[in-house]
Amino acid sequence: MKDAAPTTVYLEDYKPFGYVVDSVHLTFDLAPNATRVKSRIEFSPNPEAADRRFWLDGEKLKLISAKIDGKDVNPVCTAEGLSCDAPDAPFVWEAEVEIDPAGNTALEGLYMSNGMYCTQCEAQGFRKITYYPDRPDVMSVFTVRINGDLPVLLSNGNPGKSGDGWAEWHDPWPKPAYLFALVAGDLVAHSDSFTTIGGRDVALNLYVRPGDEGKCAFGMEALKKSMKWDEDVYGREYDLDIFNIVAVDDFNMGAMENKGLNIFNSSAVLASPETSTDMNFERIEAIIAHEYFHNWTGNRITCRDWFQLCLKEGLTVYRDSQFTSDMRSAPVKRISDTIDLRARQFPEDNGPLAHPVRPDSFQEINNFYTATVYEKGAEVIGMLKRLVGDAAYAEALDLYFARHDGQACTIEDWLKVFEDVTGRDLTQFKRWYSQAGTPRVKVTEHWENGTYRLTFTQSTPASVASPAPQPQVIPIAVGLIGPNGDEVVETTLLELTEETQAFEFSGLSAKPVPSILRGFSAPVILERETTTAERAFLLAHDTDPFNRWEAGRTLALETLNDMTLGGAAPNAAYLDGIVAVTRDSSLDPAYRALMLGLPSQSELAAAQAESGHTPDPMAIWNACETLRQTLAEKLQDDLPGLMAEMRVEAPYRPDAEQSGKRSLGGALLSLLTRLDGGEEAARQYAEADNMTLQLSALSCLVRAGKGEDALRQFYEQWQGDRLVIDKWFMLQVLNAAPDRAVGAAKALTEHKDFNWKNPNRFRATLGALTGNHAGFHAADGAGYALLADWLIKLDPVNPQTAARMCTAFQTWKRYDAERQGQMRAALERIAAQPDLSRDTTEMVSRILGA
Ligand SMILES: [Zn+2]
Repeated sequence: MKDAAPTTVYLEDYKPFGYVVDSVHLTFDLAPNATRVKSRIEFSPNPEAADRRFWLDGEKLKLISAKIDGKDVNPVCTAEGLSCDAPDAPFVWEAEVEIDPAGNTALEGLYMSNGMYCTQCEAQGFRKITYYPDRPDVMSVFTVRINGDLPVLLSNGNPGKSGDGWAEWHDPWPKPAYLFALVAGDLVAHSDSFTTIGGRDVALNLYVRPGDEGKCAFGMEALKKSMKWDEDVYGREYDLDIFNIVAVDDFNMGAMENKGLNIFNSSAVLASPETSTDMNFERIEAIIAHEYFHNWTGNRITCRDWFQLCLKEGLTVYRDSQFTSDMRSAPVKRISDTIDLRARQFPEDNGPLAHPVRPDSFQEINNFYTATVYEKGAEVIGMLKRLVGDAAYAEALDLYFARHDGQACTIEDWLKVFEDVTGRDLTQFKRWYSQAGTPRVKVTEHWENGTYRLTFTQSTPASVASPAPQPQVIPIAVGLIGPNGDEVVETTLLELTEETQAFEFSGLSAKPVPSILRGFSAPVILERETTTAERAFLLAHDTDPFNRWEAGRTLALETLNDMTLGGAAPNAAYLDGIVAVTRDSSLDPAYRALMLGLPSQSELAAAQAESGHTPDPMAIWNACETLRQTLAEKLQDDLPGLMAEMRVEAPYRPDAEQSGKRSLGGALLSLLTRLDGGEEAARQYAEADNMTLQLSALSCLVRAGKGEDALRQFYEQWQGDRLVIDKWFMLQVLNAAPDRAVGAAKALTEHKDFNWKNPNRFRATLGALTGNHAGFHAADGAGYALLADWLIKLDPVNPQTAARMCTAFQTWKRYDAERQGQMRAALERIAAQPDLSRDTTEMVSRILGA
């Protein structure tokens, strides 16, 4: 069935629901194709609402019966819900519906994955389970009974009575329907417990499919660390007797914070040294923390409406980044987050999909689970903390939890606690929530008689989402370094609020070198005309680890641009600076590994487009290859010794220390492979006793065109492990030479293990293609055509994942006329599909429309 003509929802149209839900009782009679859901819901008139229309959301439901106060009623049903005459007084609504979990491939609502029943309700999946006011500001206490012939029957809250083939659950905390969850299956538990700061014993369970028991220990430890950290740092205690996590293979996102019953994509929770890389372990630790932290920032205090999504996501991403910084290295985490922000959020903020951190309108809310809402949303929290200081931030958070516990809130509520605690007027700061686009900050300097002046000018490009952007509050952390490399002015926070503003530093004996935007203190693009010599000076001397890395990155950008656009040779200042850092054993290996990385090829393309050039993906790829080859030759004599230092003799641990060594070791191996033809990589591959080493060696071999035997061996070794086979799919496409990437992806879509209905496998293949910049942008348009073919095929089955992957086309206007034409044709071909989902329709039209 085609969705109704897309309608746009606006923030300014918000109205409270006409009724309050006092309690919800649900009974599930599970059957794969005909599950019956009985609901008994107590409604009473909402004194805050003027409009008493009784409308319940519902999609793809077969209504069996409906009653109000025990009497049959005949509601008017549409494809989106039902309406009915209802009393202007408390009443009981009872309904029975039938749904088809086995036929639900969209993975929203109640669906099946490998014989297991599972739910995903955020944002609007609950309406596919039963008729309900499916909106986050309607919060209620839920009691659930599950009848089903399966050993494990789970829902939110605390367990109630249970017996053979049935179980009851009661969640005492009022919650919106998007936090509802149900799981039923043949699962085994890895169990543990945690005693909270208040002395409450909490049972912890990680439920997995039989056979995965050995991959649970790390996730469980991460959960306990998260629970402790949230008590220590935010004073937040867990509030139920039990906390369950379930791993599921078919899942659109990373994980979901359902109250007391988190559901995880198995890739985001299952781990063992043999099958998971260090990066997998770190990601799992962060995602478990993120979902756990939502218990307070998201669940106890939720969003009034979906426009406020950043209220829970920006804050919770910020909290999980603090957690990772505390568990691991803070500078490495900050640099990694910035790389990610520039790779995913900057293109969004500067293209046709630009939207504010709090959007004003949407057609399909699933399309707004974006890097802007999440990652830029977290940056906004970081700026707020920098501006008010750590103590005031802590006080404001305490007030937020005390004032709003149990409520559905807005960004205005959030900012008000900061205003009340600090007395600051945050009106201008609020533009970070309402304006789209990445601010550019231009800096000029002036030196005279011992006084050094920095003048900043900010501007944000106008966009469809923000046609007339205004100056924002931009916290800029600055330090000054003297000619001998000593810091003469420690990190100082400047507050840029005007369009143009100057700041002076006096009493200096010599003209300093400025280190601007330390710690990436604001998500902006800094523009400053400076010399190669000055960048090299900062790369050698900056005391701020972020800006030291940034100096290396801007040098790399500069030399790669000169190589691509002007045919220049690699810049000696860059090479010498990076060689010095790589040799410097006083620096953390993880940090040195980041220093060895180049800006992504799509970032280079963006930078070239921004400066008025048309990026040529092949020229960019060639420049990166040449630069790496030159670097490898420069480091030739150092490589054996450095790699020996990075060898880990102790038993495998995925901690910061060991993974840092493996990370630098892997970066060095990829350089060495350019010199020794893969000899060392083959040796490492054969000897590897953990996935990090095995995979880094295999990637090197594939890039060198010598991976055939190892790929075959790897497949034979791991064919029984779906998560490892995802890696096998992905690395072949990511590491393919540009002229072979499309062919590699295409061949893999014909592999017997290409289960395209599984989102992880789909992303590992087609998503990987979009990550191979020169391969995806192949001049003949084959990359675009292949992706379009598959998105057309996926859309009717899983619109959410299909829509999200359309973002690969968002940068189409950056490229030459021929590529633009090919991408436009691909987008128009998708748009022309007769039954295209609301999700994909909205994405394609936004990308084409700008
Ligand atoms: Zn989240």
